[in-house]
Amino acid sequence: MSNRHTTTDVILIGAGIMSATLGTLLKELAPDWEITVFEKLDKAGEESSNEWNNAGTGHSALCELNYTVEKPDGSIDISKAIRINEQFQVSKQFWSYLVKNNLIRNPQDFIRPLPHISFVQGEQNVQFLKKRFEALSDNPLFQGMEFSDDPGKLKEWIPLMMKDRTINKPIAATRIESGTDVNFGALTRMLFDHLKNQGVDIHYKHKVQDIKRTSDGLWELKVKNLDSGTVELHTAKFLFIGAGGGSLPLLQKTGIPESKHIGGFPVSGLFLVCNNPEVVAQHHAKVYGKAAIGAPPMSVPHLDTRFIDNKKSLLFGPFAGFSPKFLKTGSNLDLFASVKPHNLVTMLASGIKNMSLVKYLIQQLMLSKEKRIQELREFVPNAKSEDWDIVVAGQRVQVIKDTETGGKGTLQFGTEVVSAADGSVAALLGASPGASTAVHVMLEVIKRCFPQHLNAWEPKIKEMIPSYGVSLLQNPELIHEIHAYTARTLALEEKKQANPA
Ligand SMILES: Cc1cc2nc3c(=O)[nH]c(=O)nc-3n(C[C@H](O)[C@H](O)[C@H](O)COP(=O)(O)OP(=O)(O)OC[C@H]3O[C@@H](n4cnc5c(N)ncnc54)[C@H](O)[C@@H]3O)c2cc1C
Repeated sequence: MSNRHTTTDVILIGAGIMSATLGTLLKELAPDWEITVFEKLDKAGEESSNEWNNAGTGHSALCELNYTVEKPDGSIDISKAIRINEQFQVSKQFWSYLVKNNLIRNPQDFIRPLPHISFVQGEQNVQFLKKRFEALSDNPLFQGMEFSDDPGKLKEWIPLMMKDRTINKPIAATRIESGTDVNFGALTRMLFDHLKNQGVDIHYKHKVQDIKRTSDGLWELKVKNLDSGTVELHTAKFLFIGAGGGSLPLLQKTGIPESKHIGGFPVSGLFLVCNNPEVVAQHHAKVYGKAAIGAPPMSVPHLDTRFIDNKKSLLFGPFAGFSPKFLKTGSNLDLFASVKPHNLVTMLASGIKNMSLVKYLIQQLMLSKEKRIQELREFVPNAKSEDWDIVVAGQRVQVIKDTETGGKGTLQFGTEVVSAADGSVAALLGASPGASTAVHVMLEVIKRCFPQHLNAWEPKIKEMIPSYGVSLLQNPELIHEIHAYTARTLALEEKKQANPA
């Protein structure tokens, strides 16, 4: 054990998009606060936030069919789609504030305009898509959405997907131009560079091993310096656990009552990446399909143009699978080690309830490359195996908890902030909609953990996020203003941007 011991106002565990966002918000709201970051890897944005580990969709429910469910009476529930869209508008406003104030530069290095398309086949799915379009297209948040079941029109929108397609059942698509591709890895790195410039103390290759509360109410962390092998102690008044899949085990170490009866269910992912530039050049959109029956929402297949390292790429997936690891760089013992006496019943109940899901995920894991290419051919009929490589994506740890509606051990597909009653510690669990809603979720952390400062901070929050505290849906004028302002500031006006293909 080394005798290194520091005390700061705030400690952030993990250098992913969530800590990056919270640190950046806090530096604007309370510039004098001292912030320290501990990250076990040697760089920022290397786990789920890395561009190769997630799908880079700026989730705003423009094309993701699982955010609009069909109700028993046949109508479409759009409430979740509206919520997610509004949350993404919050992210875009904050990023625009950072760009406008030169706190980060070159927005095209992390966000690009890209049409978002939903594509379905079969009469029933076409009817669903049509009803979804009718429910959304008059809404100002979804302005500009088009529907077509005309193969000629679809050929214009998605030529690669229509080439050599046998059309023996109805097909249809919706398209909206205001979608985005977001490189969350690049954004995370930019935000950490900015935090470093602001004097934030960032320690890479430092793994947090234990957390405990001191007698004077501070949080004390036992941190292993992975270079020297020594163990250091660091304390803070406020602790944020933004360790991605690693958050649950660390939250459990705090011992706070809110950390009990919660479990984690890891889901792994794979993408197919196209290695043929001629094929890549034929597609320009994110195209989301419908999840297979019995498949979890995070395995909805999509064919995505991506902008990585200033180059156009084409990815298909993710194929979900099962792995007991909580992080891509985690251990096969992670799932087992997260079972504690207080969450044993919750975990067992979840295991029983989700047998079919586990079976599905294991089957998915075992799929051969040829079987994956067959799934890809639903999107790209003439896909050739040699044009596509498999890459391993990030791990998602879904939250398991007891709920009133679902009962014991219910699997959650959303994002959850867990915080202590006194606001001294907060953790982020879950992974969906994920990075796109980081700003909204970190504002939630701020509201819960710093209620005493909110009044004083509100004018600054409103300067950064003009729609803060306002329902966009009830203010169509504001939606138009925000769309125009963020498109201008983040260079999202597609026609003006050079296509780097
Ligand atoms: C396959 C896949 C597809 C996705 N697609 C999308 C998408 O299209 N759009 C979207 O918005 N979101 C998407 N997501 C979700 C999104 O990637 C995550 O929600 C987001 O990146 C989580 O950020 P984070 O900061 O919480 O975690 P991470 O980025 O995982 O960062 C956590 C950090 O904590 C570090 N850490 C862990 N344990 C410790 C420890 N003990 N000590 C020190 N450091 C530690 C890790 O090394 C890591 O760097 C996807 C995720 C996956 C896996």
